[in-house]
Amino acid sequence: MRYCPNCHAPLEADREVCPTCNRLTDATKMWMLYGKGNIGFAFLGVLFPFIGLVLYLGLRRALPRHAAAFFIGALISSLAAIVLALLFLLGLMG
Ligand SMILES: [Zn+2]
Repeated sequence: MRYCPNCHAPLEADREVCPTCNRLTDATKMWMLYGKGNIGFAFLGVLFPFIGLVLYLGLRRALPRHAAAFFIGALISSLAAIVLALLFLLGLMG
């Protein structure tokens, strides 16, 4: 017996979509689907430093410590997103 990876409802064999939650039940297809989404989010993450920089420049005078912390956080999160995107692309090619 197979079970839906999303809602854990029992599935008939060869069902691609769960009748309970209407999600894809194939783990590979789900990975591809979410993988594409992650690449989109990764590219979105590249924009974070710009947002962080704008906020940093805006907050610098009022809250120097908070501004620096926010800028560093945005930088680290975007770097992590880029690394994840590269790893995923390498995984697709390999
Ligand atoms: Zn389900």
